[in-house]
Amino acid sequence: MRTEFMAGNVRVGVRATHLAVLMLGLASGLAALPAMAANCPRPDALGTSRTLVIDAKEHPLIGSMQYRETLPLNDGEVVLTFDDGPLPKYSYQILEILAAQCVKATFFLVGNQAKANPEGVRKLRDAGHTVATHTQSHPYAMSRLSMDRAKAEIDGGIASVTAALGEGAVISPFFRIPGLSRNDGIEQYAREKGLQVWSTDFLADDWRSVSSKRVHDLAMQRLAAKGKGILLLHDIQPRTVAALPKILQDLKAGGYRIVHVVPATPDNPATPTDPQQWREYPTSELVATSRWPKVPGFAFAQHELLPAPLLTDSYWNDARLLDRPQARGRGVPMPRPAPWPREVLLASIEPDSALPVPATSVFEVEEGVRVAMLGVNAARPVERRVAAVEEKPEPAAKRPGKRGAAVAGARGRRVAAAPQAKPGRAAAKRTGPDKSNVRRINRHNQQAASI
Ligand SMILES: [Zn+2]
Repeated sequence: MRTEFMAGNVRVGVRATHLAVLMLGLASGLAALPAMAANCPRPDALGTSRTLVIDAKEHPLIGSMQYRETLPLNDGEVVLTFDDGPLPKYSYQILEILAAQCVKATFFLVGNQAKANPEGVRKLRDAGHTVATHTQSHPYAMSRLSMDRAKAEIDGGIASVTAALGEGAVISPFFRIPGLSRNDGIEQYAREKGLQVWSTDFLADDWRSVSSKRVHDLAMQRLAAKGKGILLLHDIQPRTVAALPKILQDLKAGGYRIVHVVPATPDNPATPTDPQQWREYPTSELVATSRWPKVPGFAFAQHELLPAPLLTDSYWNDARLLDRPQARGRGVPMPRPAPWPREVLLASIEPDSALPVPATSVFEVEEGVRVAMLGVNAARPVERRVAAVEEKPEPAAKRPGKRGAAVAGARGRRVAAAPQAKPGRAAAKRTGPDKSNVRRINRHNQQAASI
């Protein structure tokens, strides 16, 4: 099947996409070579391998550290970004280091810095780098600001940087939230303004009090772990100035290639890409991840509605479960009702209530997502084992001297083994543990905890 999608102003067939990307990459690579040869003082420089033109509105949130999408880079491709400038003392050195290697980067500028140093903004624009924004005053807890303040920060940053470039200047719609301190309101406002929020793929911790060698090592190690991606650095830090030459040198030695990202314009349409290329890189099975599976962004169709299910449809408290201990019979007394779970009174719901139809994307399962399920022994569930423990007469009751210790031990073990069955006063008095049963329950719960 031939599926079509829009990429910027260019309509591309999926089947032809890879070829188109290859041809375009080749073409841009060839186009870049003479430019590099003409402008680059060093023939052995790292250089900029290609320019990636992107449509900000099509991909409003990028950077795998926080979002599902990131730049559609090939293996070994790196995008350099610098935040918080311009600060002449260090930013100008960064510009020189990049120029010596003919590398183009993206600068996320702070409005107040641009106001104080408009010449610095013009310098990096004239050097061919991408000018982006990073709020007006770089608040450190952006996500906790009121929406009015947050909007003023975003708008102020854009206005100050644009003003620094002079009348009629156009800056990129790329925007990075200070401290990556996102919230839904900020992202929504950015989307409304046509901004693209850039998180990052990896950091080098260059804002922390670490050595420049550490910055270099972190940048290279984290890049090696991902194989490609956006690197976030700061052009206002002396340790970044010190680390950057060796980072670029090692990028070259490691066979990495620099990609320069620019926004699409009517004259410069977006580079054709496959939607899959924007997806966050699937994590290898061998890499431990500290993140839980992400909660999907629930999107609802606008008009369609379905009748709301009755809460009683999902009422779990099946009478058969309650009858089970009684069915065992044979004169064994019924256990007292467990203190948990308690009876829950279900709220009444209007039978004619309706809920919006969820979008089909809600049910999509991403490639690479694996769900580990705990296999429970259905033939002998935990509830039954607990019931078996409680039904068994306590032999220790006949030996008063040891009874106290036995009950105390049982109480502790049973709390660890089955937190859902609180040891009631009556249970402690009437019953004791069968040690092998308790051990089995403990083993079961340990297995459950390790998944
Ligand atoms: Zn910053």
